[in-house]
Amino acid sequence: MLDLFNENNVTNHDDHVPTISEAELSDAEVLVELTKIKEELKDQVVVLGHHYQQDDVITFADYTGDSLQLAREAAKLSKPYIIFCGVHFMAETADMLTGPDQKVILPDLRAGCSMADMAVRSDIDHAWKFMKSAVSEIGETIVPITYINCAATLKAFVGDNGGAICTSSNAEKIIKWAFSQGQKLLFFPDQHLGRNTCFKMGVGLDEMVVYNPKLTNGGLTIEQIKKAKVILWYGYCSVHQGFTRDQVKKVKEKDPSVHVIVHPECSFDVVQAADDAGSTSYIIEKIKNAPAGSKFAVGTEINLVNRLAHEYPDKTITSLSPYQCLCTTMYRVRPRWLLASFRAIKQNSPINVITVPEEVKAPSLTALERMLAIK
Ligand code: SF4
Repeated sequence: MLDLFNENNVTNHDDHVPTISEAELSDAEVLVELTKIKEELKDQVVVLGHHYQQDDVITFADYTGDSLQLAREAAKLSKPYIIFCGVHFMAETADMLTGPDQKVILPDLRAGCSMADMAVRSDIDHAWKFMKSAVSEIGETIVPITYINCAATLKAFVGDNGGAICTSSNAEKIIKWAFSQGQKLLFFPDQHLGRNTCFKMGVGLDEMVVYNPKLTNGGLTIEQIKKAKVILWYGYCSVHQGFTRDQVKKVKEKDPSVHVIVHPECSFDVVQAADDAGSTSYIIEKIKNAPAGSKFAVGTEINLVNRLAHEYPDKTITSLSPYQCLCTTMYRVRPRWLLASFRAIKQNSPINVITVPEEVKAPSLTALERMLAIK
C-alpha cells in the first residue's frame, strides 16, 4: 500500500497509480480515446467533476459542482461506476452516499487536500477530551462541526459526538443549528471558514480562539476555553490563504468599479476588504447573473476563474492574485489517469476504488445526513 496520506487515511483501496505514458499516447490521443470509451461505457459509468478541475477533465464530466452539489448528485446516482474527478475526501463522501454495489473511483490516489490533512483523528480526540472537561466545569455543551473537507474518520467523530458536517455553501445554516444544540462550537479543519462565517453571524473576534494541535493543549488555557464561544482549528487552505488584503487594495485603487468576490476560505482580512464572499457556487451564480460589462476580481482557484472568464466573454473576470492560485492536488487528476480508470472498468478490473470501512461509514453518514436534513 502506498503511503499516500496521513493517519486519517483508513479508506480501503488498492495502490494502483495508473500509467499511460506519453510515449504510448499523446495528450491529444488521450482525449480522442476518452471520448470514444466514455460513449462506449455510458450505461455503466458516470463522471463527477469538481469546479477546480482542469478544463480537459471537466469536458468529460456528466455533472460539475462544488462539494455539496456533488455529494447530493452522488446520492442520486444508480450507475455501477462513479469516477470522481476531485480529491480524496470527496470520493470518500461519494462512497458513503452510494449503494453497496456501486464503486467510486478516484483517478489519481495522490489527489488529497492539504487542508483536510491538517486535522488528524488522534489530535481531534485529544483536543476534544481537553475541551469537554473544561466546558463541563461550567455546565455548558460544546458541539463539533467539521467542514466537509476532511477525512471520513473526522466525519465519523462528528457523527459520534452530536455534531454535523458543513460546506462553504451551508456553513451559516449549520452553525446556527449548532448554537441551538449547545453554547460552544468546535470548528475544524478550516479556521478561516469558521471565523468568517461566525463573524458574519455576530460572533465577535474576541469570542473566538484558535486551537493549534502542534502546541500543548492547542496553546490554550482552560480559562480561554471556558470563555470562548467558538474554538477554531488551526487549519487552512494553502490556495485560498494565498490571497492578500493588499491585492484587494491594489485592484480597487486601479479600478474602483471592479467587484472583488472571494471564497470564505480566504483569511478574515481579505474577506473584510472584499466586496463580497461566498462558496464557489455562490461566486458562479453572482457572475452569471451580473449584467454584461461587469468586472470581477475573483479570489478562488485559478481553473474556475479561467473557466468563468471563458464562459462569460461579455464580462471582465480576472484572478485577484497576480500569481497562479492553483490547487495542485486537484490538478493531479489528468485526462490520462481518467482514461486509465475507464480502461480498467472496460477490462472488468477497476482501479483506485475508494471504500470507506463500515465502522467509519456509519457514524460519518449520521453526520452527513444530519447536514442534509438541516433546513
Ligand atoms: S483548494 Fe484548498 S481546500 Fe480545496 S481541495 Fe485544494 S487544498 Fe483542499
